[in-house]
Amino acid sequence: MVNLRADVAVIGLGAFGSAALWRLQERGGRVLGLELHDVGHESGSSHGLTRLFRVACLEHPGLPALARRTLDLWRGLARQDGVPLVRQTGCLTLGAPGSRPVRGALAAAEAAGLSMRQLEPAALRRQFPQFAGVGRRDVGVWDPEAGLCYPERAVCASVAEARRLGAEVRTRTEVLAVEPDAGGVTLHTSAGEVRAGKAVLATGAGLPALVPELPLVPRPTPLTWFRAADPASDAFTLPRFPAFVWERPDGDHLWGHGSDAQGGHDVKVGVAGLVDDTPFPWQPDDGRLAAAARRLAPRIATAFPGLVPHPVRTDPCVVTDSPDGQFLLGPLPHAPNLLVAGGDTGHGFKHAAGVGELLAQYVHGEEPYCDAGFTDPARFTG
Ligand SMILES: Cc1cc2nc3c(=O)[nH]c(=O)nc-3n(C[C@H](O)[C@H](O)[C@H](O)COP(=O)(O)OP(=O)(O)OC[C@H]3O[C@@H](n4cnc5c(N)ncnc54)[C@H](O)[C@@H]3O)c2cc1C
Repeated sequence: MVNLRADVAVIGLGAFGSAALWRLQERGGRVLGLELHDVGHESGSSHGLTRLFRVACLEHPGLPALARRTLDLWRGLARQDGVPLVRQTGCLTLGAPGSRPVRGALAAAEAAGLSMRQLEPAALRRQFPQFAGVGRRDVGVWDPEAGLCYPERAVCASVAEARRLGAEVRTRTEVLAVEPDAGGVTLHTSAGEVRAGKAVLATGAGLPALVPELPLVPRPTPLTWFRAADPASDAFTLPRFPAFVWERPDGDHLWGHGSDAQGGHDVKVGVAGLVDDTPFPWQPDDGRLAAAARRLAPRIATAFPGLVPHPVRTDPCVVTDSPDGQFLLGPLPHAPNLLVAGGDTGHGFKHAAGVGELLAQYVHGEEPYCDAGFTDPARFTG
């Protein structure tokens, strides 16, 4: 028996789903959001106070358009309730001239018409002495539109706006199975059946469980915070230690940003590939978090001798990898009423509102605001 009907159902209200709910409800109709936990929870990919916001996205030259649309939409949302969702402090990408981060950031900047400041090795070492072991030829690329964004705030603000516009939201509701057909989509949930004209599946690490043919792999990735060894020094505060991405000469790929007393957060540093492919979800006390922190400490000591190398806080989080590192956004070729939004591969938050807008355009058959063909799920399922 069908308990609920909707024109569009959005399943999963994390980064992508909360934004899709808002952008869809902006266009009207009966829009329903279903979420396994509460809105703004800490059990998925969209928690941990901050994320890097970059426009010169090294991952693909098509991404700056999504980041910029996100910036516009979030600014509009922030104007309404006065809480900023992005802080543009700039971002430094460091590495050898031919390294993937440096090459990628420059290619994206060129595609976006973004003027980047390039820092030569001597200037880099002088201006940012916190980064130890910068290679003799390493350069820095400065993205002036970048900075930080705030995941819990953005998710809650998007859902609140969707609700204000008339969306219905059911939390603590698990979608157990999804059945698309020619006329719509039937959702089997822990609270009964839902029938929708179209559905947007944005369940993050839970996406492969509902659509097993998608080649997505959830990868536990901890969030780790640190403190300066000298508490009196301001060397690791946000103005002096901005958002950064760094490919070190030893091949380590680090990212992070400085502390901000106003924002209530310590220095954050993460390293790619810290946790082996272990099953998700992980439990906070299952030992893997502590093991990850232990593996991180020597790398922090080498890269940032000015930090105490042991994290002051370590929280579980997860990224969902796609084979080519790009998102999967849009209808499934064999089920056009079912759209997916996932495969974030660890760089999705800064694009959330732009992704939500794109999904709403796909649902309503509008001309997309940018060419996001590189995210078409058909590249894997078609
Ligand atoms: C350590 C770390 C650092 C990162 N750094 C950055 C960064 O600096 N910049 C950046 O842009 N991005 C970054 N990311 C990536 C970014 O956080 C993710 O791209 C983004 O949060 C993914 O959002 P999502 O909507 O796909 O997943 P989620 O936010 O997890 O949303 C999925 C939602 O679906 C719900 N759900 C799951 N299954 C079901 C079900 N069966 N029924 C109902 N609901 C369900 C979940 O509860 C969840 O709320 C980072 C990620 C990690 C882990």
